[in-house]
Formats: sequence, structure tokens, C-alpha cells
Amino acid sequence: MDKITIRAMAKINLGLDVLGRRDNGYHEVKMIMQTIDLYDTLIFEKKREEGIVIEANHPMVPCDESNLVYQAASLLMKKHKIDSGLKITLEKRIPVAAGMAGGSTDAAAALVGVNRLFDLQISTEELKEIGVTIGADVPYCIDGGTALSEGIGEILSPLPTPAPCYVVIAKPDLSVSTAYVYGNLNLKEIVHPDIEGMIEAIKNQNLQQMCAKMGNVLETVTEKKYPVITELKKLMKENGAVNSMMSGSGPTVFGIFDSLQRAKNAAQEAEKTGFCEQIAVTVFAPKAQVVEE
Ligand code: ATP
Repeated sequence: MDKITIRAMAKINLGLDVLGRRDNGYHEVKMIMQTIDLYDTLIFEKKREEGIVIEANHPMVPCDESNLVYQAASLLMKKHKIDSGLKITLEKRIPVAAGMAGGSTDAAAALVGVNRLFDLQISTEELKEIGVTIGADVPYCIDGGTALSEGIGEILSPLPTPAPCYVVIAKPDLSVSTAYVYGNLNLKEIVHPDIEGMIEAIKNQNLQQMCAKMGNVLETVTEKKYPVITELKKLMKENGAVNSMMSGSGPTVFGIFDSLQRAKNAAQEAEKTGFCEQIAVTVFAPKAQVVEE
């Protein structure tokens, strides 16, 4: 095999709780992760000259060693003494610095892609162990689907796919640093969402109940700083969302809808505000990578 093309899906958090802060600065989380059908496309090609070359189509995405796909590919190639070269073409569609694990899912796709391209036969478990050294969400992004994520994000328990629904994604025209948000989180101030209740609702295929349990403690930081997030959540609900929330550290807001028409209307209304950089109507997806034939 000389070339492989992989779609790397974004995630949203249906629930996001922070339980504490470890001495090393990492936070203990309890999150419900959900892959959505919004993806970057990565093409991995062997090349004769040594080294990794990246081409990306987004001004905020670096093409050097700081790109997470570079780090992922380089780790695997060094470990397995691959001296052939690699070209990675990265077509970004997932909003950047948006709380949708764009970089982590690209890194996960790079681990999966390099493993396949060079036929390294590395197990998924080992890929996840390598992945967590790149980013806490990378192990989840190797599996994707619906999962409970605990520890710093690396303890994963798969969950059934929730009841079918439509998701509207609205990314305001601003970028948020995940480190800033966690750094400014006041653990004494937060109201913990009922993650166990959400798990029950997901298992029971009860969309209304699942949406009623949505909660993200990071909103206390990002939403306070950017009132546009509150406006977008309100807009989603006024246009028929069962519920609406910020994903991850933000600023992306998503709405969950039980009707495609209402989802499309909400997306149109979000477009009219003029303060969204990217809007999409999508659905939940069962896994984080799809290999294009
Ligand atoms: P998370 O939800 O995991 O917190 P995020 O969506 O908030 O992630 P990313 O889109 O992963 O944030 O990007 C954060 C920063 O990482 C960007 O500012 C970008 O410069 C850098 N970066 C490195 N590699 C990538 C990549 N492959 N895709 C996007 N950003 C990348």
C-alpha cells in the first residue's frame, strides 16, 4: 500500500464534568463523548525522501512539527524505525480551536493511518497508549462513537448510540484556548451535571431525558467571557432544539433536534446573525475514522 485516505471525525461533549485537578496540572474529567459526522480528510502517502511533509489548507493549522499529525506519525515511525518518507495532506473542515477535538482526531487518524500504511500491526490498545502522550482526547478519538471518558480522558467505557437526532453546530468567529479555560475554572463554583443520569437516558434511548441531563462545567469560564455563546444557545432553543450547549472548552455551540426541518431552520437563523464562522447540520456517527476506498 502506498497511499491511504482517512476521514477523521469531530466530537461533541453531551456532558462534561470536572472532578478535580491533579498535582501535575491535569484535570480529572467525567465526560460523555459523541462522534459527529463532520470530518477532516487526511491523505497519507509514502515518499522516497526521508522525513514527514505536511500540507494543510487552514491558516491556523501549522505545517511543521507542532502539528499533532506530525507528532503522531513521527512517534510511530521512530518507534518502528521506518526510514521511508511520508507526505500528509490535511483538508480541515472541523473548526479549529473550537472544542471539537479537531487536532486530537487528526492525530488519532495519523496513528491509525501510519499503522496501516506501513503495515506495523500495532494493536488499538497500544495506539491509544501512544495517543495519550499526544493529547488526553486522542485515545477516545481512536475509537470514537459514544463513550464515557474518565481519568484525564484516557479511561473509556463505550456506550450505545443514543436515540437518533440531528445536530446543529455553530462556531462563533472567535478562538478559545483549552488551556486558558481549564486554567480559569473555579472548581468550587461549579454545579456538577448528572452524568450517570445521562448514561441511563442513553441506554434507554430517551432523547428528551438525555437532553435534559446535558451540562458542561466549562461554560462557567467560556460563556462568561463570550456572551455570544449564550445568544447562540438561546437561538437554538427558540428554533426548536430539544436542548443546546457549548462543546468542550468552546466556543462551538450545538443544538440537538428531533426534526431535520427544525435543525435546518435553526442553522439558517444562526447564519443570519453574522457572527458565526461555520455552521453545519449533521448527525451522530458510530466511529471516529472512515477509510475512503
Ligand atoms: P479540543 O476540543 O481537544 O480542546 P480544540 O478543537 O479546542 O481541541 P484544536 O482544533 O485541536 O482545538 O486546535 C488547537 C490548536 O492546536 C490550534 O490553535 C492549532 O494551531 C494547533 N494544531 C496542531 N495540530 C492541529 C491539527 N491537526 N488540527 C487543528 N489544530 C492543530
